[in-house]
Amino acid sequence: MTQQPPAKPAPTPDAESQPFFDGSSRGVLMLKHCNACQANLHPATEFCPECLSDDLGWTEASGKGTLHTFGLMHQNYHPAFTAELPYNVAIVELEEGPRLNTNVVGIDDDKLEVGMALEVVFEEFEGGVKLPKFQPAS
Ligand code: ZN
Repeated sequence: MTQQPPAKPAPTPDAESQPFFDGSSRGVLMLKHCNACQANLHPATEFCPECLSDDLGWTEASGKGTLHTFGLMHQNYHPAFTAELPYNVAIVELEEGPRLNTNVVGIDDDKLEVGMALEVVFEEFEGGVKLPKFQPAS
């Protein structure tokens, strides 16, 4: 008898982050945008950390970025990830400026290079929540 691993834990959107997850569900990476100083922000906040304005909206990101840095996870913290060990944990710098914690998919970890061009893809979790991952740019 084989036992299925549990599902990966998925984030629960709240009022502040709901537009981000709504965008992900339709395949669009959303960023908070400061209407006062034009800064693009991630994660979503109520105030702009650059100018302290609360005049914030949302903007669609291009989904393009570069690999800023990454590490390989060898320690198993949750049984849902056991089969994927080791896996990469990456920080991607978006074209629009903000950096995102994510994973790079569609490439062997030993081929990852800081500075490589990446594009967003979305992974669906149990319950339908989708999260942005990145793959080598086509
Ligand atoms: Zn601002």
